[in-house]
Amino acid sequence: MTDSDVLLEVRNLKKHFPIRKGVLKKVVAHVKAVDGVSFSVRKGETLGLVGESGCGKTTVGRMIMGAYRPTEGSIWFSPPNGKPPLDLASIDPGDMRELRPHIQMIFQDPFASLNPRMTIREIIGEPLIVNKVARGEELDRRVHELVEMVGLQPQHMSRYPHAFSGGQRQRISIARAMSLYPALVVADEPTSALDVSVQAQIVNLALDIQDKLGLAYLFISHDLGLIRHFSNKIVVMYVGRVMEYAPAQNIFERPRHPYTEALMSNVPTTRPELIGRRIVLRGETADPINPPPGCPFHPRCLYAEEVCANVVPPLAELSPEHQAACHFSRELNLTGCDALGCAV
Ligand code: SF4
Repeated sequence: MTDSDVLLEVRNLKKHFPIRKGVLKKVVAHVKAVDGVSFSVRKGETLGLVGESGCGKTTVGRMIMGAYRPTEGSIWFSPPNGKPPLDLASIDPGDMRELRPHIQMIFQDPFASLNPRMTIREIIGEPLIVNKVARGEELDRRVHELVEMVGLQPQHMSRYPHAFSGGQRQRISIARAMSLYPALVVADEPTSALDVSVQAQIVNLALDIQDKLGLAYLFISHDLGLIRHFSNKIVVMYVGRVMEYAPAQNIFERPRHPYTEALMSNVPTTRPELIGRRIVLRGETADPINPPPGCPFHPRCLYAEEVCANVVPPLAELSPEHQAACHFSRELNLTGCDALGCAV
């Protein structure tokens, strides 16, 4: 890596899950969950990874967290201690343990991700104990500070998760993820299990903490409207591949891929007269076991032409930092979020 501000660089990342059948468990096909994804995250910035369910975005997050070994590709992470970047795709478990404090995750479901038999003090303090960062009075002080940082009452530290609402539980998850002051937090749909009224509070909390700690987020979501709130750059994924990758402002002002335009047209609008302009995609998301030939989006695309069914469009650079995988990115005049009156 040449840019010293780059914290994470994902290159040509692939994850193909084998499908086995028969007594001999012979491999008969592969689910191409992630199929050649590249992007980078700079220190202190937020990258939004967006797409419909099954597009492979969560699998990307899990490979970064070390839960899955990539089939191919690399994940370069620069530790904050000034050591050279390490490839998480081929790292040995000992080195990964050393890096773990610097990369944390916030899960989608705050009901399932907290141990119901541990108090809040124990849940938030556990990473500090396991990583030998604090104990005794210092541990209490750090946990107290974290509880206050996420807007909970320190006098409730002896309670168990069931005593809290969904939003409060997600605050506890965030406090735990921040306990070691990570450089990168992978947030996988952190608000999708919460009431709409609570979602904005959690997003604002995540932003406040980013300001305080200077950390970077990889924010995974199916909701382009939510991601708009705080992403510096956005990657739009479809059946394991990158359809568009650009600074958030470029994407929202002028999307260059028909799939991005379709996602955007479904963000709630402040202009009811534009509701009729919503793009309703035909058919189902493509099957990652057997994706369509050519452009994987072509069976659902409003602008598809003959070439789209036969030739895979490369992820082409349209301007510095703006890439899209569409044969007609330069010709199409797609509608952006501002013209659609997105209410976010
Ligand atoms: Fe649509 Fe063709 Fe572009 Fe694919 S390459 S997004 S099918 S216009």
